[in-house]
Amino acid sequence: MVQKRPIICITCRVNSDENVLSLHYAQAIEATGGTAIMLPQTEDKEVLSSYLSLADGLLLSGGGDPDSLIFNEQPHPKIGRVDPIRDQMELCLIRQALDQDLPTFGICRGAQMMNIAMGGTIFQDIPSQLLTSDVNHSQQGVGWYAAHTIQIETNSALYLAAGATTSRVNSFHHQAIRDLAPGFVVTATATDGVIEAIENPNHTFAIGVQFHPELMWQRHPLAAQLFKRFLDATT
Ligand code: MN
Repeated sequence: MVQKRPIICITCRVNSDENVLSLHYAQAIEATGGTAIMLPQTEDKEVLSSYLSLADGLLLSGGGDPDSLIFNEQPHPKIGRVDPIRDQMELCLIRQALDQDLPTFGICRGAQMMNIAMGGTIFQDIPSQLLTSDVNHSQQGVGWYAAHTIQIETNSALYLAAGATTSRVNSFHHQAIRDLAPGFVVTATATDGVIEAIENPNHTFAIGVQFHPELMWQRHPLAAQLFKRFLDATT
């Protein structure tokens, strides 16, 4: 008999007419006991609902910049390439998933999209909009390397995963969460105040992290624990 493994639906990037997902996300899910399914880009909300009906959890992967228009701002000169169809697809998935209390895990862009979907905003470019930042959030070099420190709030699911009030994480983002969506709390910040993790304590598992645990899980217990707790929340 085939053992039931939680099904985790993962959103992906789109390059021209190809759907693209870094294997690291699927490998982290597989190694933690789940089955990864990549969701092809679609604008059909009925299809999206159908995917969620199959899913035991939703994983929002990293990627390009969210379009500023989805949080009612004009595009900053430093905004990168946007993908309006991906934006709409993820807004729809996130709202439905949280409405159903489906475990939802946002990574980098995914954390930002969770915040935007539920009413928050982001800095479109940290170096030009958060002038007090003195931390490099766009590290060079290997992906698993934990380049900067984060401070973790003790009263949080992230703290339970980390088991400590500080940790180090990798960092590949020029944007960050600005105004927090209602119901969410900040659970980790970098030393410059940049928000590195959020969660909604009213849900079974609704966590967004600005770092990339899918690149770190083989070397960093916090990253492995996040995937474990995400999968545990699906059962
Ligand atoms: Mn960072």
